[in-house]
Amino acid sequence: MNKESFKILKEINSLYTSKDRTQHSIDSEYQRIAKIEKQSTLNKEELTREEALLSEFRQKLTHAENEVDKLQALIEKSQAHLNQVFTTEEIKALESQIDQATIQLHPLEEKTLELMQEIEDHEKRKEEIKEFLKGCQETIKEIQIEVDDAVIPLNKEIQSFQARIDLLISELPENVVSKLNQLREKKLTHGPLAEIAEKKCSICSFHLDQSLIAEVEKNLKFKTCSGCGRILVPGNALY
Ligand SMILES: [Zn+2]
Repeated sequence: MNKESFKILKEINSLYTSKDRTQHSIDSEYQRIAKIEKQSTLNKEELTREEALLSEFRQKLTHAENEVDKLQALIEKSQAHLNQVFTTEEIKALESQIDQATIQLHPLEEKTLELMQEIEDHEKRKEEIKEFLKGCQETIKEIQIEVDDAVIPLNKEIQSFQARIDLLISELPENVVSKLNQLREKKLTHGPLAEIAEKKCSICSFHLDQSLIAEVEKNLKFKTCSGCGRILVPGNALY
């Protein structure tokens, strides 16, 4: 390595940082759409659940209404029969039948009313969800146009950063490039490069021995920090 190679390395690093920042802006743009799509998916799932519930309630309602019809028919039939019987026992038997049917009828009628209310509530919720989903679709359409417009220049920026990086990379030794790529893949918070500050790695504070410091600072050797693995950049290549 020479001073120039370290400068190139630093420039590549800063270009990568700019490229990553631009990529982050692109991601944030797409994130705007993804957020609405997520809401949309959650609401579609709720809509499916509402539809299943509605079908269940409708089935229960039909069943309860049939039961009510049967009991009402039984009561009517028994009442009509009352006019045709004469013995006290027969009258008593019919009256008891009517009473029993009436006792069963009341909770069933209550139940049908409750089910009708449930159906009405869930229909309302279903309509609300449908309305929300329609809104989502419209918003996505609008945002998509904005996002597309915003992303075009950002993608151009990315391309130009990458073109400059590729050019500079061709000037570096292969082992340096591969180490740089390896470190970049780790997506380290403070990047792949470190300096030597007061005999320590400027990033991880690992204590560096004098011979290593001399190798980097005086002989401009390509060395990495034993603590964090970052490439050590000599002080004279910093500016
Ligand atoms: Zn370190």
